[in-house]
Amino acid sequence: MFDLDTILRPNVRKLVPYSTARDEYTGVALVPLDANENSLGSPLSKWYNRYPDPHQYQLKEAVSKVKGIAAEHIFMGHGSDECIDVLYRCFCNPGKDNIIICPPTYGMYEVSANINDVEVRRAPLLEDFQLDLVHLENLVDANTKLIWICSPNNPTGNALNRQDIETVLNNFNGIVVIDEAYINFSRHKSFVQELTEYPNLVVMQTFSKAWGLAGLRLGMAFAAANIIAVMNKVKPPYNINQCTQDLALKALEEVGQVNDMIREIVDMRNALTEVFQRIPTVRKVYPSDANFLLVKIDRAHEVYEFLLTKGIIVRDRSNVKLCEDCLRITVGTEKENTLLVDALQDWLLLKK
Ligand SMILES: *Cc1c(COP(=O)(O)O)cnc(C)c1O
Repeated sequence: MFDLDTILRPNVRKLVPYSTARDEYTGVALVPLDANENSLGSPLSKWYNRYPDPHQYQLKEAVSKVKGIAAEHIFMGHGSDECIDVLYRCFCNPGKDNIIICPPTYGMYEVSANINDVEVRRAPLLEDFQLDLVHLENLVDANTKLIWICSPNNPTGNALNRQDIETVLNNFNGIVVIDEAYINFSRHKSFVQELTEYPNLVVMQTFSKAWGLAGLRLGMAFAAANIIAVMNKVKPPYNINQCTQDLALKALEEVGQVNDMIREIVDMRNALTEVFQRIPTVRKVYPSDANFLLVKIDRAHEVYEFLLTKGIIVRDRSNVKLCEDCLRITVGTEKENTLLVDALQDWLLLKK
């Protein structure tokens, strides 16, 4: 059975978190002289002289309304990258514990593990880019703390079978993290409504993709309240700056506009799929539940270099296992997509 206390790092279990000036006095202060801020203001038209809310109360309320998840189940990170790092620091004893990734997948799980001196074990996806449950199970030992599942997966673009993910959730006594950075572009359902079902589930989402706010650095983790409480204890107190909190709050009022963008991107993704399929050197366009396409193309690396000369930058994944000869291409604007397709036609003419 999953027991949060036994999988926590002992130092984190005992940790007394930093108590901010904001924590010690939570009302609206008439004369706020407790945080050594500059009371005169900022050298800007809008002032940022006050420390931001360390608990992001308003922001979480707004996310709670949009997602239908209570605020106690929400963690806010400086991008998903911080959520990943905080999870390692909560659960993984450096030099002792291990985690499992399912490559090809997002690189930060491994980099962040390396930074935290946590052993990385690999259960590569099968040929169809689905989970290898047998391999996964064989890798788990008493020191396995986290399993990273990215769905829809980067760079393959596909969603992982829901039943397989449920099998992992039901049989693993550590934390299962499902990274749903691309969920808004997917036909498949999010796992966020399953938090009550699984005490060991952490779902990550981000403002960097569908919300169009990559520059703000804002990521979210959703989990049982006791997991979120531990993550909050470990994060830097003021990890989400005032600017980001203000702008994200504004963006959350524009769900309609975001949904329009999602629809447009999905339409363009589907249209691009068909266009790519008609290019003779394209061997395969993998089905995508994301805002990018994984395309297997003859001489992928040369195509990548050629596109560079035209100022078009795609992601060369041709030396990644299971993605041989593949480029990962983000869906752009209508104009950018046309420039890309034109460039690919130029490449064909050049090589004839
Ligand atoms: C883009 C992406 C993210 C987002 O990371 P942020 O730090 O929130 O910008 C998370 N996970 C995956 C798999 C991604 O591709």
